Amino acid sequence: MLIAGNWKMNGLSPALGEVEALIRELKARPVAAKVLICPPATLMSRVAAVAGGVISIGGQDCHPQPSGAFTGDISAEMVRDAGGTWVIVGHSERRQYHGETDTLVAAKATAGWRAGLGVIVCIGETEAERLAGQEEAVVDRQLAASIPDAAATSPTAVAYEPVWAIGTGRTPTIEEIARMHAHLRQQLTKRFGNGARAIPILYGGSVNPKNAKEILAVPEVGGALVGGASLKATDFLSIVGAAPVGS
Ligand code: PEP
Repeated sequence: MLIAGNWKMNGLSPALGEVEALIRELKARPVAAKVLICPPATLMSRVAAVAGGVISIGGQDCHPQPSGAFTGDISAEMVRDAGGTWVIVGHSERRQYHGETDTLVAAKATAGWRAGLGVIVCIGETEAERLAGQEEAVVDRQLAASIPDAAATSPTAVAYEPVWAIGTGRTPTIEEIARMHAHLRQQLTKRFGNGARAIPILYGGSVNPKNAKEILAVPEVGGALVGGASLKATDFLSIVGAAPVGS
């Protein structure tokens, strides 16, 4: 099971203290889950140094090109160079605020693999789409267009993140999460065959210390992508500790 923390645009130097606390605890009490933190790019190498290999570090985004005249962007190779082993692509905030299309997300996934990173591809419907009963059609379209064929043989995770659940304190019901994750597993298997087994499906959207145990116990939930609750070591540790033993 993979528990990933997405710090988004949060974290100045004092936030390293949270990572130190996290590492101290994980060294004292090892957990079942693999733990990943995706800090802002400015902190990546410092978080990697503090982590000392106890947890993995990732980027929150990358440019499709390895280098070039793309002011303000960072490449997958730069994520790797800063100590990252994973990169998130297609987060709904990138899709919403930066107009990222499925095609661009797929190019970023390819860039992540090129640089030797594992890639977490985010998908998920908006509230209007869910209310219209279109959630499966939306994620099917995103799965088909944002995830390149190479996912069958490259380190990949899918994060199902209903947009309306991100940062809102609202989550789908356990039954809705179970239904969607079963659907996604079916779709991945249809497309990638046996290769699909190596692709965990993370749930993301208002995961917190109170609801983590129930969510992580749902069949086909292979981990979580955690935003707000990953910023405090104590909260994030509770979520990490809620991963089922042997997962
Ligand atoms: C996220 O940013 O991917 C996320 C799930 O955020 P939150 O946990 O705060 O809802």
